[in-house]
Amino acid sequence: MQGMNCACGKVAKYVKNLRFNNYDLDGWKCENCNETYFNPEKTEKILLLNKLKKHKFYLKLSRVKSNLILRIPKDVGDVLNLHNGDKVEFSLSKIDNITIKPLENSKKDYK
Ligand SMILES: [Zn+2]
Repeated sequence: MQGMNCACGKVAKYVKNLRFNNYDLDGWKCENCNETYFNPEKTEKILLLNKLKKHKFYLKLSRVKSNLILRIPKDVGDVLNLHNGDKVEFSLSKIDNITIKPLENSKKDYK
């Protein structure tokens, strides 16, 4: 990753471990004026993730052959980096509680 032109006129250096809303992400830090520039794409994802965490989804099941299909809303899929064919862990702990856990690459953007 290259440096980024800082507002102060110097070049901000690419850094990997910045903190934003309790998540690690990369970005640029200027050693001259101490200004920090977060990776805009990841910043947007973290903001969306925080918004979605407060949201309760009411989803409708549909039937394909003998199975019921649950559709994950697009924003949730995007923010968790879920794609067609990805695997998730599905568990039923109580009669009224289903847990769906994203696996592998979905977590790589957040630590
Ligand atoms: Zn600067």
